[in-house]
Amino acid sequence: MPDTPPGVRCVAEVAKAFESPQQFILETLRSQGVEFDAVFVCPHFKSDGCGCRKPRAGLLLPEDPHRRERKRKQLRRRRDKESQRERSRLEAQSRKDAVRAYELVYAALGA
Ligand SMILES: [Zn+2]
Repeated sequence: MPDTPPGVRCVAEVAKAFESPQQFILETLRSQGVEFDAVFVCPHFKSDGCGCRKPRAGLLLPEDPHRRERKRKQLRRRRDKESQRERSRLEAQSRKDAVRAYELVYAALGA
């Protein structure tokens, strides 16, 4: 896929611009008896430096490298959320503990 064609601002627009000519080519070839089992497309820009743009061979790997990348990101986000929740819980608990400690100190001092 070419790097950011003129007037194209995002990956979704590149994918949209790709779809119609791609369908035309596939239908033309199908009319001549040529069938494809799958079409693999790199949705990245050259500047993304992904592993699926030529001369790299990411699209030839058995598993879609983008799916693997998305899974890794999802997992990282989930872990970040969980650790953020745990940090929030611990902070809330230590605030409660601090308040309780002050209450005990003031009670002991008879204030
Ligand atoms: Zn790519």
